[in-house]
Order: sequence, then structure tokens, then C-alpha cells
Amino acid sequence: MTGLVVGVLGCMAERLQQQLLDKHRGVDLVVGPDAYRDLPRLLSSLQGHPCTSGISRGNLEQSHSRQQGAINVALSRTETYEDVEPVRPAGQTGAWLSIMRGCDNLCAFCIVPFTRGRERSRPLQSILDEVKRLSDRGVKEVTLLGQNVNSYTDFSHVPGPRPLPDQSDPFSSYAQGFSSIYKPRRQGAKVFADLLHEVAAVNPEMRIRFTSPHPKDFGPDVLQAISEHANIAKQLHLPAQSGSSSMLHQMRRGHTREAYDQLVQSVRDAIPGIALSTDLISGFCGETEEEHAATLDLVLRTHYDQAFIFAYSERSRTFASRHLMDDVPADVKSTRLGEVIAAFRQIQAARNQAEIGRIHLVLVEGAAKRQPDDLTGKTCSMKRVIIANQPAAQSLAAMPNTHIQNTRQQMPWNSSLVNVRGPQAEPSKDSPLENTISLAAGDYAAVYIQSAATALGPEPFSIISPNFAAGR
Ligand code: SF4
Repeated sequence: MTGLVVGVLGCMAERLQQQLLDKHRGVDLVVGPDAYRDLPRLLSSLQGHPCTSGISRGNLEQSHSRQQGAINVALSRTETYEDVEPVRPAGQTGAWLSIMRGCDNLCAFCIVPFTRGRERSRPLQSILDEVKRLSDRGVKEVTLLGQNVNSYTDFSHVPGPRPLPDQSDPFSSYAQGFSSIYKPRRQGAKVFADLLHEVAAVNPEMRIRFTSPHPKDFGPDVLQAISEHANIAKQLHLPAQSGSSSMLHQMRRGHTREAYDQLVQSVRDAIPGIALSTDLISGFCGETEEEHAATLDLVLRTHYDQAFIFAYSERSRTFASRHLMDDVPADVKSTRLGEVIAAFRQIQAARNQAEIGRIHLVLVEGAAKRQPDDLTGKTCSMKRVIIANQPAAQSLAAMPNTHIQNTRQQMPWNSSLVNVRGPQAEPSKDSPLENTISLAAGDYAAVYIQSAATALGPEPFSIISPNFAAGR
């Protein structure tokens, strides 16, 4: 063996496991997502130097090395890597921060519980400490990450075993009408709403996002936290998967279409103007034309701002692969997928057009890819914006007009570094802007939207690109 080691790490390693060593001769090392602490031992064993220092904690159940390779794909019930902070390059405007791992939901189609294991959450204090360090480094946006991020449940401050589920209504912490195949244990825990309150308070000028959530965990406490803190992004991902109650049952999603519609209404009542996104699957096992029509109806009524739409593709080890027939023909799946995408595009184009004339607070990320002379960034609602790279007013106070008065009310914080783009704000020979600055990555700018894209680029077959609105 040369000094070069080829390893496959993460979910794919967990899914294919030994096959990677058996079928792919160039692969030396296969490591699942819960076994990274074992890497020093595995690498040493490949080089013929047994090492025992790699496993420091966790319930590692399967770890062995072989002459032709080394593998550890054991899943852990405790590993959260809470004390392993990622190496982050200096000058980053945003950072991702893992708060929990795994998923207990076992939706019929999904491989995640088999590749990421059971749910476990990082202690809240370790998250706050990391957010504080990011804030001190000048990071302006933090995205909390987890496979089921709003299921966050931290018992690290409670001695002894977890309490039993509440027998009277085990799903009382869920959104109304939602359940799951497991009974959550949350009494006495720090839950997602607690975490949001505390993270948002670390630095009110740092924007907080999170992904990927499950709709069941958007109880009133979470909606209240999002509504209360101006620096929590007003954008929610509400994966629907289908608009049909019978399909949702088949998918083991734990709710009906009616419960989902009710949740959408509750979200919009609690957080007016919030942007919604979703995931949808076309052609799941047994899907009828009526069930497909229900998904089209959901898209047309819910008015999502963004959607990730897939044709169903079976994954081994899932409930669906073991118990259901993947019986919707490929051409039917493809037709239905095209129809759902077309319905979504119709809605999205209208929602993009409605942005014209609004002002959004945009976190500038840097030069725009396709127009490098311009800048780009994202709105609070997660829409990408192109901003003309011109001198900008340093303060809203310099721009007294109606738009700005409205904007000031929307501004999550009293930033001294904001920029207004719009007919009234453009500098001219006769009326130059005073106290102007050049915008740069990491600045928050108030951007007046002057035009919006109506098309979304090349025909996407699986993923719809993020919305695109131009403010120049
Ligand atoms: S779809 Fe989401 S909630 Fe369902 S099993 Fe997969 S990760 Fe969990």
C-alpha cells in the first residue's frame, strides 16, 4: 500500500457498508457518520500500526479492520460531536452548526434513520458557547442543523434516566393533529423553543436559521419563539411529501392533509408574511390519479416560495422497500412530477412578482456568480437577491421616505450599516448621497426589489432552484 488512503465517509458509507470494500477495489476505508472519532485507529490499522486511542465514547458496536481495508459503520445512540468544532475559514459571513443527529420518525420511504441512527441532541450550553464564539468572530448568520432539527430535546441538565412519555397525550408537544410512530419524552427537557430563545439572545444582530425540520414539531411554543425574535429568519420549511391523506398514511407521516393545512394557517397567523418551502414526492407506492391531484391542489393552495420535488425512488432497508410495491410506472411518475413542478412554478412566479416594490433586509455574501460586478445575498425569507455594487447610504436615517419608514419597522435590529436601493435612494449629480459606504460581504443591506425573475433556469427534474429576485 502507498501512503495514499482512499476513504468513503458519511451517509453513503453507512448505506453501502462492506459493499464499498468488496466491489470497489480503490477504497481502503469506510467510516459511517458516527465513527469519525475512530479514524486515527482505523488509519493506523491500515498502516499496520494498531492504535487504541481512536474510540473515546459512544456505543460503537461494529468496528474491525481487514487486510484489504478498514471499516467502522457502527451507529451511536449518544454521539453528537458536541466537543468537536469544525475548522472554519476566517471571514465567513455564515456558519452551519449541528445541534442534533438522527431521526426516529421512520417515514416509509426514507433511508435517513438507517444511515444517521436514532435521535440525540447536543447539550444546549455547548451550542450557546459555539454560537457566542461565532458571534465574536463576526459571523452574521448561523444555521442550526439536524436531520429532525426541531425535535431537539436536551436532558443533559437532568440527572438520571429520561422520564416516560406523558401517558395522557404523548403528542401534546406536537402541532395539533400530528403524531409519530414513537412516543416522545420531553418532560423536563430543554426543547427546540428554549434553544431558539437562547440562541437568538446571544447576538440580536446575528440572523438564525435552521434546517431540516418536521412539521409535527412546530408547536405553538416554537412559532411563538420565531415570531418573538426579529433575528430568527421568517422562513419555514414544512415538508409535506404529499397532499393526500391516504398517501400520507401510506408514507407513515403521522398526519392528515387537514392537519397540515391547519398548521400552515397557524404558522401564517402567528408569523404574518412568513415564507414557506416544502418537499414533495411524486409517484410513491400505490399513488392514484386522485392522490396526485391532491398534491397539485396542495401546491396551488399553499403558495410555497420554494419546493424540492422528487419522483419516488426506492431505497433498500426502508419500510417501503420491504412492505410496499413500487408500482407507479416510471413514465407516470415522470408526468406527475412535471405537473407538480409546473404548478409550483406558476405559484412561484406570481410570488416573485409580488416582491417588486418591497424592501428586504439582505445579508451580503459577496460577488454574484453570473454578474461578478454585482453583489449577491439572501433575504430573511431565503430568496437570493442581486444587488448593484454602488455606494450605499450608511444609514436609513439618511433616507426619509415612506418606503424607509415601513422598512424601519420591519428591520429586525437598529443596524447602522444598511443600504436602500430604489428610485428615491439613487445618488445623482444634483443630489449625491452623503455618508455612503461600499457594501461588502457580511453587511446587512436594506434592498428595494425592482425586478423579479419569472423563470427558474433549466428544466429541473428533481430539485427546484431557490427563488431569485433582482433588486437593482
Ligand atoms: S423524511 Fe425526515 S422525518 Fe421522515 S424519516 Fe426521513 S429524515 Fe426522518
